[in-house]
Amino acid sequence: MDDELKRVIRGIALLNASEHDGKTRNDAVISKVIGAKPELRGKIKEVIPLIGEIVSEINKLSLSSQKAELDNSFPHLLVTKPKQERSGLPPLEGAEHGKVVTRFPPEPNGYPHIGHAKASIIDEEYARMYGGKLILRFDDTNPENERLEYYAAIKVGLDWLGIKYDITKNTSDDMDLIYKKAEELLASGNAYVCTCDKETISKNRREMLSCKCSTGSIEQNTKRWNNMFEKYKPREAIVRFRGDMSSENTAMRDPTLLRIIDEPHPLHKDKYRIWPNYDFAVAIEDSIDGVTHAFRTKEYELRNELYYVILDKLGLRKPKMMEFSRLEFEGMPVSKRVLKPLVEEGKVSGYDDPRLPTLEALRRRGIVPEAIRKFVLSLSFTKSDTLAPFKTLESFNRKIIDSTSIRLFVAVHPVKLTVTNNGLTEIEIPNHPQKDMGKRRIQLDGSFYISGEDASRLKVGDEIRLLELYNIKITKLGFDIEAEMTGIEFKPEIPKIQWISRKNAVNIDILIPKTLFVNEKFNENSLERMQALTEPYYLELNVGAEIQFVRYGYCRKDSANQVIYTHK
Ligand code: ATP
Ligand code: MG
Repeated sequence: MDDELKRVIRGIALLNASEHDGKTRNDAVISKVIGAKPELRGKIKEVIPLIGEIVSEINKLSLSSQKAELDNSFPHLLVTKPKQERSGLPPLEGAEHGKVVTRFPPEPNGYPHIGHAKASIIDEEYARMYGGKLILRFDDTNPENERLEYYAAIKVGLDWLGIKYDITKNTSDDMDLIYKKAEELLASGNAYVCTCDKETISKNRREMLSCKCSTGSIEQNTKRWNNMFEKYKPREAIVRFRGDMSSENTAMRDPTLLRIIDEPHPLHKDKYRIWPNYDFAVAIEDSIDGVTHAFRTKEYELRNELYYVILDKLGLRKPKMMEFSRLEFEGMPVSKRVLKPLVEEGKVSGYDDPRLPTLEALRRRGIVPEAIRKFVLSLSFTKSDTLAPFKTLESFNRKIIDSTSIRLFVAVHPVKLTVTNNGLTEIEIPNHPQKDMGKRRIQLDGSFYISGEDASRLKVGDEIRLLELYNIKITKLGFDIEAEMTGIEFKPEIPKIQWISRKNAVNIDILIPKTLFVNEKFNENSLERMQALTEPYYLELNVGAEIQFVRYGYCRKDSANQVIYTHK
């Protein structure tokens, strides 16, 4: 092997070690070497031993000598790429390049929606901005609500958004550790097992009173804890954190840490029956996962005190918890709790019903992932609730899809039009005004459909242009409008309308999603269905194709005979 190669490997290994507390690994270096010298791909077997040798040499050096060698011998590697302006996100407090770890922690209890897009995009953008890591963690410790279907749906949604996470894990895989931490708190007197009934617990919380369980001995708590695994029934015993019953912050009034749920878990079946609640699980997981910056929506803000004090009592490292506002749209609920009943009661057709803010629905409606990302990043990182207008999302989307949407004609509420002296039998029309997206041929015989709205404006004697075709003069109105061709020259001043050749018109339905809730009430007319006619070329497009119906709006092909209206 030549010296040049050794040098390349050494540089890469040094840089990687210096970014990881002085330790590098064979696999990390191998992939980077291949990245830098793709021609080695076929010879990787010969290169691996060499990499192994160099890696172990470098791991023997101290971090400071690694850095010194990098400085002296490989200064070009240290030139940091100009930090790409990825977003309008403000800098992260206390963030160190290469060390930031964020996490997106969905509960697999429903389908992902644009609120999850907001959270996961922010998590990802920060991880990338600082050359850090993003963890996808399923917070699955409430088996009553969780289903395998939802884990999968969340992954599908994140993939569609283009979110790249570095690690995937489930909170439920750490149950043994979580039990250990619960036992630590019980043993140190920072938690106790409470067997009071629900009403008493709520009443005491309201009245800021401790219950007698809180004064029980550690032996009593240990015994009760052991009984929670078998003897107690659900709701007969919970583990409570010893907080402060007189705290102004209700979240601190001896909150529940663990409870009994006798439902099979989607992954672990009946293996566990004691489950941590959100506050306990999230604090432990964030800490042990190495999360440096954790974000959540601001309704959790009062629980930050609990988050930190749990970690304090356990002697665990504290991530920095930060909040942003929930994303909400006027008349469109962005919350699983509201979406689920709509689907289950059949008020909408499913999670991909185009009226919903679920990722599936947005996709089906023709909103593209890049638009969602731009939209999310355009919302400032604030805690104040701003009702984001859906129109803003639409305008980002329009800018992106405009250049890739094929132009077609459509006639809604169609009316017949016959050009009595039509001399053309075929015309070729470009699929996009600027871009080369091919052309389509349309057979003609002088009989057309035009849209009802255009027809309603016509008067006998009017001259108009059939787009891409010729000019006509209206000679007769009625059930079948008649006209004469007057010429082909382009006249800027006359109205121009689209048309469909009657010979080969294709029937489609246009689904138009409207606001789901008006004045907090379900809008029974939130999905309009309109019949229309379009060109035969429509049938050649793939499902999913985005179309701009000229003078009508953008629509996404949903099936052979249905499109969904995207936006103007
Ligand atoms: P939901 O009301 O939809 O059940 P949730 O917060 O319980 O909301 P999770 O699956 O637990 O849903 O959320 C995962 C992450 O997504 C959390 O960090 C949460 O703060 C964030 N998130 C959920 N909904 C929104 C929203 N509308 N806007 C912004 N972030 C959201
Ligand atoms: Mg939740």
